[in-house]
Amino acid sequence: MTSSRGLTRLSAHRMGAGLRAGEFSARELLDAHLSLIEAQDGALHAWVSLDFERAREAADRADTTLVAARGVSAAPRDGSTPTLDALPRLLGIPVALKDLVVTRGRPSTAGSRILESFISPYDAHIAERLDAAGAIVPGKTNMDEFAMGSSTEHSAWGPTGNPWALDRVPGGSSGGSAAAVAAYHVPLAIGTDTGGSIRQPAALTGTVGLKPTYGRVSRFGIIAFASSLDQIGPFGRDVRDTAILLGTIAGRDERDSTSAPVAVPDYAGELPSSDDEAAASLRGVRLGLPRQYFVKGMEPGVEARVREAVAALADAGAEIVDVDLPHTDYGLATYYIVAPAEASANLARYDGIRFGRSVRGADVLGNYLATRGGGFGAEVKRRIMLGTYALSAGYYDAYYLKAQKVRTLLKRDFDEAFAQVDALVAPTSPTVAFPLGARLDDPVAMYLSDACTLPVNMAGLPGLSIPCGLSEGLPVGLQLIGRAWDEARLFRLGRAYEAITADAKWRTLEPTDLRALDDPATPGPMERVAIMGR
Ligand code: GLN
Repeated sequence: MTSSRGLTRLSAHRMGAGLRAGEFSARELLDAHLSLIEAQDGALHAWVSLDFERAREAADRADTTLVAARGVSAAPRDGSTPTLDALPRLLGIPVALKDLVVTRGRPSTAGSRILESFISPYDAHIAERLDAAGAIVPGKTNMDEFAMGSSTEHSAWGPTGNPWALDRVPGGSSGGSAAAVAAYHVPLAIGTDTGGSIRQPAALTGTVGLKPTYGRVSRFGIIAFASSLDQIGPFGRDVRDTAILLGTIAGRDERDSTSAPVAVPDYAGELPSSDDEAAASLRGVRLGLPRQYFVKGMEPGVEARVREAVAALADAGAEIVDVDLPHTDYGLATYYIVAPAEASANLARYDGIRFGRSVRGADVLGNYLATRGGGFGAEVKRRIMLGTYALSAGYYDAYYLKAQKVRTLLKRDFDEAFAQVDALVAPTSPTVAFPLGARLDDPVAMYLSDACTLPVNMAGLPGLSIPCGLSEGLPVGLQLIGRAWDEARLFRLGRAYEAITADAKWRTLEPTDLRALDDPATPGPMERVAIMGR
């Protein structure tokens, strides 16, 4: 009999097996997670809204389905009830949603005061998919406002702590999702990645995160930041779990014309089941190591862990090839033209009339200024100004058009690299988790957090971040970048890396500050910032 805490430590695929075998019920599994959330979220602040009642109803429905399936598996088939094997892999598994995935009848704020009172009349495509699969959503997770940021400190609802060090950030913008998975509040979570917002928080919290190919997952019902860059993707604690979640949400949806009619492989089903088989799959694989990704300002401990991981992959039979991505340096500058430009257009809809917050001024313009002036935080305003400037008459050609041309060059760099290699291996973040407040007064320092992840979004490619050890006691992420639609290969490589490092001591360590989370005297991140004098 597994204890309630013990249940939360299982992988999602092991939870699925336990549910099918009747070792525990979906309700027990959910309650184990809810009691952790209840006890710890005051100190962690990974969640911005919770709906225990709806989650419990969904868990009870999952249990009914499981009981019925167990019945048919024992008795002769009547064909109308699915057997245990035919049930969706996520049935009864808790999954967190970033607070920009809209869900019918529930709050979806995107971390912004301007959406404080917004209740969506419909579900996002991926919320429908998860519902149909029987996944259980306990609530929504904290994020930088409109996904603009790398630390989750730009949330209107206050920052989130990192379970490895509560006085540090979990990364961002999907920091709530990453922290919730790292702290065992859920085995799986959804994030979005416009310039690194899944991979960077995954790296900083020691979790696995995948940014899929642009067009792999429907953006229908995802509150938009920069539409040509945004992608939705999974967080998990291991590669297989992450693959299961992508398999559930991926695929064409008529309501998002950029979602591609490309076949979705059985990502998790195709992964090797044994460590030996997974490790053997590395033989002969050609991995490119892009010189330009070991950027100035990278912490030596991070570089050391990444180079050790590359050496381990080489020892296991992968061929490592040095490659050049010569335009990498322009990634940051062009991203900060394209993303704010698109954001300024997307955010024009928050006018005080159509969505959420509405503040009365003297006249129509007064309403608009009061609603937006008080509804948006500083970073969002900064982006709107940058974007509006870059798109204005006379500047469009000099900035936006030029940035789009450089974007093509960035993409070409990757095309040329992929003519020589099967995938690229690089750091995810130049540093480990930084202290709360450390980059808040310096937007450019914050922007540099994503130097190694932004180019992948500019080129529309998939990128996976997996943990590869610790530096100064904090997690380091290894980034695997693939050709468009090649997520399956990234999962195979990630799984192989897990196999060859299965005995590493760091794999057995839980986040350092989990114990502090259980102490009711531990202050929340907001109070912690106050104590730290920021
Ligand atoms: N940190 C980057 C930004 O602030 C990327 C954010 C994201 O991927 N959503 O724009």
